[in-house]
Amino acid sequence: MSSVKKGINTICTHVGEVEDKQFKGAISPLFMSSSYAFEDVDVKRYPRYFNTPNQEALTKKIAMLEHTEAALIFGSGMAAISTALLAFLKAGDHIVLQDALYGGTFNLIQEEFEKFGIEYSFTKGLSREDFEVEIKNNTKVIYVETPSNPLLKITDLNMVASLAKKHNLVSMIDNTFASPINQNPADFNIDIIIHSATKYMGGHSDICAGAVAATEVHIAQIFSLAKNFGGSLSDYTVWLLERSMKTMGLRVKAHNENAIQVAEFLNNHKAIAEVYYPGLQSHPDYELAKSQMHGFGGMLSFELKDVCPVKFRKNLNLIKSTMSLAGVESTLISPAETSHALMSAEERERQGIKDGLIRFSVGIEEVEDIIADIENAIAQVKSGKTVATT
Ligand SMILES: *Cc1c(COP(=O)(O)O)cnc(C)c1O
Repeated sequence: MSSVKKGINTICTHVGEVEDKQFKGAISPLFMSSSYAFEDVDVKRYPRYFNTPNQEALTKKIAMLEHTEAALIFGSGMAAISTALLAFLKAGDHIVLQDALYGGTFNLIQEEFEKFGIEYSFTKGLSREDFEVEIKNNTKVIYVETPSNPLLKITDLNMVASLAKKHNLVSMIDNTFASPINQNPADFNIDIIIHSATKYMGGHSDICAGAVAATEVHIAQIFSLAKNFGGSLSDYTVWLLERSMKTMGLRVKAHNENAIQVAEFLNNHKAIAEVYYPGLQSHPDYELAKSQMHGFGGMLSFELKDVCPVKFRKNLNLIKSTMSLAGVESTLISPAETSHALMSAEERERQGIKDGLIRFSVGIEEVEDIIADIENAIAQVKSGKTVATT
């Protein structure tokens, strides 16, 4: 494709295609080979070198969507996160992380970093002071996640980038909840952008993958560790991910439009105690979210008032109680029972994750049907005519 600046849906649909030179088909052919010629070639290709034709092509789409020079695709979001972190941290180094993080990232730090001799501090809040007070002489990386999981807190990207610059740190963000459609941290000078592609990039609850986007220099540093750690994604899944990403712009737009309506509905409902959605004007970070996001996303959470969350869940017909998020279908979880179950009750309490909190991944179904399902489940529980909870 030419270098003329393209719109998001054109990038989603076309950038990073593998050209079908043989048959001139409309879509990328899939090259499943794990064995490529080593003689008379410019590049020695191998799946774990992250450079098969399909791997290489798809990184172009991801890099262009994230406004970076380069990208790498991984076998999972955690493979991307662990490899990116360890590419910039060695024994004796220190990292500052925001307090509200994806549960898997929290576990990685808590369970593994000590044996690598890497020191870490979690902030006590999300203000500039909260981050700066944790920075030490040996701090190398500052790591954030915004909007955060599960309470949709917003971290100021300009603030993080300016702290990183002042203290000569590498800044990293988990951009999964926003997707590249709603937020482009490179525009705010964040260095390393990480995605669980299992979520909005895949978007159909059928792929596990990860991605990192950054400058060529940073990607080269991450690659040198990635090839040794071996967290590459199989070409078949790369191909499926490319197919999924063609509709990411349309899907995320639909998620955004449904989520704001669901958030407003919940916000006005008597049986709901609290709604966490950055697109609500009542959200404490609404202005900040507006200033750094193109859309507010499809994720929200809420607390029920005088309604048993288990009974509520059992009375839903359309919305599925399933792990994970960001599929075209509406799904919800109870973080205390799933994503944050490995965290101690005290730690959850400290982070404001109540046992009755429900994290809702708003799908792309007709919004009236989503709202009716919630309304019906609440009415059933209130009337006492609930389905058995066993
Ligand atoms: C799911 C998720 C991850 C981990 O991704 P996997 O693909 O499950 O390894 C990381 N960060 C966030 C915000 C996530 O939602």
